[in-house]
Amino acid sequence: MAEIDKSAPILVTGGTGFIAGWIIKMLLDDGGTVHATVRDPENKQKVGHLETIADQAPGTLKLFKADLLDLGSFAEATGGCELVIHTASPFVMNGITNPKEQLIRPALEGTRNVLDAVNNSPSVKRVVLTSSVAAIYGDAADLQSLPGGAFTEDHWNTTSSESHQAYSYSKLVAEKEAWAMAKAQERWDLVVINPSMVLGPSLTKYSISGSIGLLKQFGDGTAKFGVPKANMGMVDVRDVAQAHINAGFTPTASGRHILSATEVSLLEISKILRSHFGDTYPLPKREVPKFMVWLAAPMIGFTREFVSKNVGFPLKLDNSYSKKDLGIKYRPIEQTIVEHFQQIIDDQLI
Ligand code: NDP
Repeated sequence: MAEIDKSAPILVTGGTGFIAGWIIKMLLDDGGTVHATVRDPENKQKVGHLETIADQAPGTLKLFKADLLDLGSFAEATGGCELVIHTASPFVMNGITNPKEQLIRPALEGTRNVLDAVNNSPSVKRVVLTSSVAAIYGDAADLQSLPGGAFTEDHWNTTSSESHQAYSYSKLVAEKEAWAMAKAQERWDLVVINPSMVLGPSLTKYSISGSIGLLKQFGDGTAKFGVPKANMGMVDVRDVAQAHINAGFTPTASGRHILSATEVSLLEISKILRSHFGDTYPLPKREVPKFMVWLAAPMIGFTREFVSKNVGFPLKLDNSYSKKDLGIKYRPIEQTIVEHFQQIIDDQLI
């Protein structure tokens, strides 16, 4: 149980990110002092929106240069902080040629690096880690062998590896390392946020988050011939940011938290978009049979193993603990999807 002094600075790692942008905005709007780590504080494309937000908010923003793989680089930013929110980790789904270097090392060694800084900063009382439902399950097919019909915080991903679902594996090993390091000491406690697919309006045009790419493919014609019969959990980025803040400032908050408003199929996403945007965009109208998706998989950036274990399976994520422990009230996903797509249009990404 940690009581955080709101006047102490709060460290947010990965400040340039899609989710971190909203966390930082909420903290600054509340008058907080935020130490945000970024890889390049001079890159105005990446940090300009944070400086604009800070100019308009009562809080104070300080940018610090840090890289997940640069040992010791989080030390200065952590100094004096009672609360550390660690979001930084590569969330890249496409173009991965070396999963170990591009995903797993930054996630795992980066978490160790940040938590080493926490261990060396006597002021820190609580760490909030952005993990993922990817640390809870690997493939939708995993649900078939579970009693209860839904994934909960008790479940751990046992099916991902460096060669299959490497991003999920990176989140799994990073979260496990965080729990091991938390249990090895008694000064700070760990609260973990496990979001499903995060969508919603972005405060930055320059994030490469996999979240931004998904709806773009609905609008740019990539999916015009149809989508696989696949389901995903979905949650609004503002609800995810709020969950991090509640996790930080609720003394009794504890454990892991699935953050997911509901499950939705790719075709349902398209239907929501069509009902708001009509036929202006080449939105998919049908589901492609699984065997065709399986055949085409290597050409559309997926493995056949991924298709076999994820297309056509039901998915259910139990979000009740996030409501109980963090008081989260989920926005309807229609709002999330429509506002996200409108932003992609406004930013001329399609
Ligand atoms: P973004 O790509 O927008 O943010 C990722 C952040 O990590 C960026 O600030 C990026 O910095 C930083 N980062 C990546 N590699 C390094 C590195 N080597 N050193 C320092 N910083 C680095 O993605 P999201 O905001 O979507 O993701 C944030 C977190 O949320 C991640 O941990 C992700 O795994 C998790 N998550 C995301 C979900 C989603 O649907 N978006 C779902 C579940 C979990 P830079 O700008 O310099 O690249």
